[in-house]
Amino acid sequence: MHLEKITSSQQAIDLEDKHGAHNYHPLPVVLAKGEGVYVWDVEGKKYFDFLSAYSAVNQGHCHPRIVGAMTEQAEKLTLTSRAFHNDILGRYEKYATEYFGFDKLLPMNTGAEAVETAIKLARKWAYEKKGVEEAEAKIIVCENNFHGRTTTIISFSNDEGARKNFGPYTPGFIKIPYNDTEALERALKENENIAGFLVEPIQGEAGVYVPAEGFLTRAKELCEQHGVLFIADEVQTGIARTGKLLAVDHENVKPDVLILGKAISGGVYPVSAVLANDEVMNVIKPGQHGSTFGGNPVACAVAMAALEVIKDEDLAENAERLGNLFRRKMNDYIRSSNIVNLVRGKGLLNAIVINDSEDSSTAWDICMKLKENGLLAKPTHGNIIRFAPPLVMNEEQLLECVDIISKTLQDFEK
Ligand SMILES: *Cc1c(COP(=O)(O)O)cnc(C)c1O
Repeated sequence: MHLEKITSSQQAIDLEDKHGAHNYHPLPVVLAKGEGVYVWDVEGKKYFDFLSAYSAVNQGHCHPRIVGAMTEQAEKLTLTSRAFHNDILGRYEKYATEYFGFDKLLPMNTGAEAVETAIKLARKWAYEKKGVEEAEAKIIVCENNFHGRTTTIISFSNDEGARKNFGPYTPGFIKIPYNDTEALERALKENENIAGFLVEPIQGEAGVYVPAEGFLTRAKELCEQHGVLFIADEVQTGIARTGKLLAVDHENVKPDVLILGKAISGGVYPVSAVLANDEVMNVIKPGQHGSTFGGNPVACAVAMAALEVIKDEDLAENAERLGNLFRRKMNDYIRSSNIVNLVRGKGLLNAIVINDSEDSSTAWDICMKLKENGLLAKPTHGNIIRFAPPLVMNEEQLLECVDIISKTLQDFEK
């Protein structure tokens, strides 16, 4: 038989190391089970999950309603492709478009695919509605963005690891500093062929950079003035993570194109989506874009259940409340700390910045110690640690986590 029984974490790590491509550098923990805010490793040790699969598991691990919807649908019909209709896609599209307030939804599977979809949509709209000259459409993006890993997306990344030796790169992108509406205005004035402004309302992968209040409002205003689509990548920030359904809701900004992924399935299944109104979405005609698995019946059932859970369990409100508590507690700690410079974030998307250089191992060492102490988190950009637990956490659990984090950090104080 091809199945080797896994009896130790090391055995699983060795198997991956030998047979899997080395395209990640995981924390050395091997998880075998998850429930709510907890995960368990092969040896049975229990951890708080403070990454939530990069905010895909907002609804908590193995949420019974979402898993139930998946298994129920999986026994009836799993895949038709879009060559035929299925009896759930339309119901899902109605539900999700009403939920987020758009005319139409285009279903895909991963976040990167949804970003690609938004780029194609914006370009096509620019040629057909705005009258941009053939092959001249540009999209404005921000420095230190993270939008996924496809060839086009890494073309406008400035993460050298993500880019180097993957060229030639896709042209048509103009990079401006994040959180800089003057740079945005300049770029919009200098070029008449701009199709869209693609932006993360909070830069997650970059280290949870929260822009100044008013940035999104002003950016949207400028886009409107210049006839440019405001494209919000809410793959990580959306679906209640930051204390509102969407991060743009903090400023009541309505994107022209909304990109969702990750938690739209509660981490149960790969589901992503692009939402827009008819004026924009109707430029896509049959045969011009698609995906074999996009909009498959299992994905539709899972996404509907995952979105229902967000509302029924008031997860946005919970994220807002616990996020405020978390930052207050961390700020209490930081006041007398040498090892942590600051905490920042919104809702339950937060990060601490470690007082050491980006190429130091301190943040990694802290995460290793946190793991030992029963909490899983991962450094980003060397000296930043992101803290993003499932949103189903309660106050008592959060305070227990603050305790674990404080005690662990204490060991690193000089
Ligand atoms: C994770 C992420 C993506 C890419 O999603 P994948 O499912 O990994 O392709 C895109 N944009 C943002 C903001 C993300 O956080």
